[in-house]
Amino acid sequence: MAVKGVVYVASRLVVDAGAIFSPGAVAVADGNVLLAGPKADVLRAAPSGFSRMEFPGATIIPGLVNAHVHLQIPRFLGDAGIPLPVPTSFVDWILRVIAWKRGAAQASFDENFRSAAAEALSFGTTTVGEIAGPDLSAYVGCPLRARVFAEGIGFAPNVASEVLALVSVAIDRLEKISVGNPLVQAGVSPHTLYTVGEALLRSLADLAAAKALPACLHLAESTPEKTFLSDGGGEIASRLYPAVGKDVSWFRGLGRTIPSYLAETGLLREGVLLVHNVHLARPEIDALRAGGARFVLCPRSNAAHGNGAPDVTHFVDAKIPFALGTDSLGSVPDLSIWSEMRAARSLYKGRKKDAAMCRELFRACTEHGAAALDLPGGILAPGAPADFTIVDDPGGDGDRFFRELLEKTDRANVRLTVVAGKSAHGAAA
Ligand SMILES: [Zn+2]
Repeated sequence: MAVKGVVYVASRLVVDAGAIFSPGAVAVADGNVLLAGPKADVLRAAPSGFSRMEFPGATIIPGLVNAHVHLQIPRFLGDAGIPLPVPTSFVDWILRVIAWKRGAAQASFDENFRSAAAEALSFGTTTVGEIAGPDLSAYVGCPLRARVFAEGIGFAPNVASEVLALVSVAIDRLEKISVGNPLVQAGVSPHTLYTVGEALLRSLADLAAAKALPACLHLAESTPEKTFLSDGGGEIASRLYPAVGKDVSWFRGLGRTIPSYLAETGLLREGVLLVHNVHLARPEIDALRAGGARFVLCPRSNAAHGNGAPDVTHFVDAKIPFALGTDSLGSVPDLSIWSEMRAARSLYKGRKKDAAMCRELFRACTEHGAAALDLPGGILAPGAPADFTIVDDPGGDGDRFFRELLEKTDRANVRLTVVAGKSAHGAAA
């Protein structure tokens, strides 16, 4: 009996940032790519009985990877339903998130998640690096391929064991969820270095290593963070902790550089995912990279908070792979990874030609994004999951194709988003 499958045919196929076929096709069976290449070759080799779907004037690309999101955090709206402006003080922003988490209705987390996941798919995203929200059951029906990081927060040494136990329970729950929904994979996230003390950081690093799970840390996002970690002072000590009724006057700074602190606590090892990376000097980035770190940059979120900008130029020119993430809807107006690529493009000040830079950004949001999350995908080779997006063909060839793609593509140009061989957004032609 013939295997059931589908051949998707389009004017162009992007297998990865380095291989394009015009026209191209992808044959999909059992949620995976069976064949990908020139249209004529794929049609010739596809088993009989496969159905065919044609997308003239369109390009098939690997599904995009949004490597840092919080899909349970909503847009924060004022009384009139208009989005509240992002506070100019980063500490005020953190306090807003804390107040939201404490006051939100339990049912709202799942509603936020569903709506944000649908929004991500509508932009052509198939894969996310998600910081788990309060409602883990939301991930049972997760329509995106997702690395879901269970988050731990606790600064004082005496709360470390209690928080570790909570994170362990959350990971057990996520691992049970992934049995029923293999799109979901667990990870561990110490929140930040100013909200996770050394004892908890060590415990979470040990947990990640013992379970062979990736770890994810928000790092070097803001000036208040940098000040607090250097000497224990600044707004985090004087405003954030007093507002939540905690005394951190005993903390006088890390007393070490960030790379050596992360190495000593055991978090810096192959695959640790560092998010933001704004307030790092180039030698620090290089040391973290040498220690095995992977990087996610979130330029639009950083700009929205007045936190500065990541050193895109260094990442590109030093050939340090990076991924991009939008961060949450509380920080950015939408989950467009296209807008994130354009924001990163505008930050690059090196000598690489613009069109070649656009190709690098495409790689960041496909292959490098999947690798950063230690998830399959990001390319459309045989055996890879059938995670892809079909968008209006923007025209152009070589590097210029990627520039046209970046400039012209957004939600309105996404025709179909497919995750594990199933249509997750858009109408099949
Ligand atoms: Zn975040």
